[in-house]
Amino acid sequence: MVKIKKIFAREILDSRGVPTIEVDVWISRGIGRASVPSGKSKGKYEALELRDNDKRFHGKGVKKAIQNINSTIAQGLVDMDCTKQAKIDNRLIKLDKTPNKSNLGANAILAASMACARIGALASGKELYSHLGKWKKLPIPCFNIINGGQHAGNKLAFQEYMIIPVRFHSFKERLRAGSEIYHELKDILEKRYGKKAINIGDEGGFAPQLSKVEMPLKLITQAIGQAGYERKVNIGLDCAANEFFKNKKYVVDGRSLTTKQLVDFYAELVEKYPIISIEDPFAEDEFKAFADLKCKIGKKVMIVGDDLLATNPERIKKAIRSRSCSCLLLKPNQIGTVTEAIKAANLAKKAGWNVMASHRSGETNDPFIADLAVAIGARYIKAGAPCRGERLAKYNRLLRIEEQLS
Ligand code: PEP
Ligand code: MG
Repeated sequence: MVKIKKIFAREILDSRGVPTIEVDVWISRGIGRASVPSGKSKGKYEALELRDNDKRFHGKGVKKAIQNINSTIAQGLVDMDCTKQAKIDNRLIKLDKTPNKSNLGANAILAASMACARIGALASGKELYSHLGKWKKLPIPCFNIINGGQHAGNKLAFQEYMIIPVRFHSFKERLRAGSEIYHELKDILEKRYGKKAINIGDEGGFAPQLSKVEMPLKLITQAIGQAGYERKVNIGLDCAANEFFKNKKYVVDGRSLTTKQLVDFYAELVEKYPIISIEDPFAEDEFKAFADLKCKIGKKVMIVGDDLLATNPERIKKAIRSRSCSCLLLKPNQIGTVTEAIKAANLAKKAGWNVMASHRSGETNDPFIADLAVAIGARYIKAGAPCRGERLAKYNRLLRIEEQLS
């Protein structure tokens, strides 16, 4: 038994310069520290992120959430055994008392939960990944190298174009391939469209002024080939279709498509490009449309649920019943505690799905999801481009974990 002595939260800024929460949890011989990310293309089924909505930081301050940690949460957790994560998270859920963590704020609750996990690992003399789980395999990184949608100032309807280095023997080789292709793409974009095309978006990928969703696929396929990785590296998309779902139609490249037309369009893209993963191809309530797409291209392509599932067990169960997905996008702040995130991953795995651990578009330098991905045996992780400190914090942490495990 290693007792929690003190908990202290502060307001810090995330990678977009927006306030977020950092928490220190003290035991007699050290501190566990963690901070939480924040999404931009958020789904309506996510747990509540508590913001102050007052004059500070254009309403985005998190002082109320911090006050909740420094009072209610600290009182509730002090003297608990920091090595017992499930009990701590259970206490946090009870302190909040709401299904979507709207009382104390999921940002407050998750920051406390993660910081407890870190100090729990230290107190147990373990690395975070082995404190949280038994798995010891490195996930395959999905590098988002062209940004669109809500994450960039361009007209691309699709939010993320990822490269997935599948056929390699180590994480280190995958990271090298990701970086080499990223820089190859940079050269291609600059030569073709000039310097303005190599500005980057929120997740470190390029944000060129392209408007047709197919164009990035052509450019990325070219970059993969020129870098010498043809047939070793595939492509993944996060369409984040909620963001272009208007009046029951999907607005893509200036056209309004029905669900059926969009299914056919995805099937065409999959024929032409080495796509192996499509996330949120439809809006967040469209379980049937997801299932239709899976039925059509699911043998070749993984169908990933993000806004559809919101890391929420009830929604995951519904998607299992309706055969809507083959992969869970796992975002701990959509559900609010470390233990619930692990349970969500286990539920998906039990159904035979893959799990992709995910960062948010607004990040901190905390590499927590890298450890979590290893702990739960996630087959994939997405943490943005192989560029920008808050993205590399996760990938570089995985390099170190690989060293320890080999
Ligand atoms: C996503 O949609 O998968 C994502 C990481 O973006 P955000 O954090 O803005 O929801
Ligand atoms: Mg997404």
